[in-house]
Amino acid sequence: MSEDYKPNPYEDAKSQLREAQKILGFSEGDYDMLASPRREMSVSIPIRRDDGTHEVLHGYRVQHNLTRGPAKGGIRYNEHVDIDEVRALSMWMTWKCALVNLPYGGAKGGVTIDPSKYSQAELERVTRRYISEILPIIGPEKDVPAPDVGTNEQTMAWIMDTYSQFQGYTVPGICTGKPVSLGGSLGRAEATSLGVVIMVEAALKKKGIKFEEATLAVQGFGKVGRGAAEIAQRRGGKVVAISDIFGAIYNADGIDTKALGEYVDEKGKVVGFPGAEPMDAAQLLLLDVDVVVPAAIEGVFTKDNAPDVKAKIIVEGANGPTDSAADKILNEKGVMIVPDILANSGGVIVSYYEWVQGRDNFFWPLERVQKEEEQRITAAWKDVEAYAEEKGVTLRVAATVLAVERVLQAHKRRGLYP
Ligand code: GLU
Repeated sequence: MSEDYKPNPYEDAKSQLREAQKILGFSEGDYDMLASPRREMSVSIPIRRDDGTHEVLHGYRVQHNLTRGPAKGGIRYNEHVDIDEVRALSMWMTWKCALVNLPYGGAKGGVTIDPSKYSQAELERVTRRYISEILPIIGPEKDVPAPDVGTNEQTMAWIMDTYSQFQGYTVPGICTGKPVSLGGSLGRAEATSLGVVIMVEAALKKKGIKFEEATLAVQGFGKVGRGAAEIAQRRGGKVVAISDIFGAIYNADGIDTKALGEYVDEKGKVVGFPGAEPMDAAQLLLLDVDVVVPAAIEGVFTKDNAPDVKAKIIVEGANGPTDSAADKILNEKGVMIVPDILANSGGVIVSYYEWVQGRDNFFWPLERVQKEEEQRITAAWKDVEAYAEEKGVTLRVAATVLAVERVLQAHKRRGLYP
């Protein structure tokens, strides 16, 4: 990535919508309606540090669309969070939910913070204050948060508690990705990763490559990347390279991902793991492997590195890892890209199951959660694959068009108020 490059995911998200407009032919008025978030809330978050000083952080909650149901989407804690990033991520949530047929709109939240510089007690205060600031616009029937980069099931437990304190009773449906002991769903923690691996299998099959014979590189050893690497290995796959924010490692015979997980739990990073050699992290994306899974943040494939990509398939575990310029180059090179709104939809699919289980007060066994996740994501893959073949477009264009069309239809059916 060049020094001056700063990804603008909102521009990328809007240019994807333009692509869909070319195929669906909707009006400029409809484009504006779909490109503009319905509601945006920007809040100051004053907090008390452990040393007694005060500090003001900034946070956002953007509800991109509410037409098919309550807004849905994660909350990100990252030092790069800004309003445009949250807008883009909220738009992608709208398409993602529509693509896998969930009765939700799309939203995203974020706080501009480097969570590694704050204690658990400080993060708890940040979370409780942020939630109390956005309280008027969230709720189980309005907008349902979930984890994203930098947040986890503990964050969700604080959110559930804070919201419930205001209501005066426990409201499990306020967020998803909660600990299982507080109404979380079995299988939610690994859901995004499982979906990613199911999509790796589907893409390899389409390319005529056997999963057991394929080589995989995974960028990111956070929840999504780590889970994907472990599940891929458990299902007979070979992960040859893995990176985290500190560096990358390589082993042509395959990395023992379980042993690596234990190593990382102890040491905090992948480099130094005895079962692999260190390698340059930027080179991981350019390895001559069958599949690269970017599972970190947006804008990792750009015009600068896309010409050098050698993988046959990219499965986007992260949201927006390929910017528009890179997307074009990779398509011209014939690289198959399973787009984020399909590839990482396993997380929100199981979030939906969690929300449904919470409303019913009846909890499903793990086998049911995973079976229903697999069925739903596979059905979406088949829709996208068939549409891409029929129209001669990429999987990303097909996925976006199918999703946008569903949202547009819902708008037309409901009509424009007043
Ligand atoms: N943050 C995840 C995503 O980007 C999960 C969202 C959710 O479960 O609502 O899809």
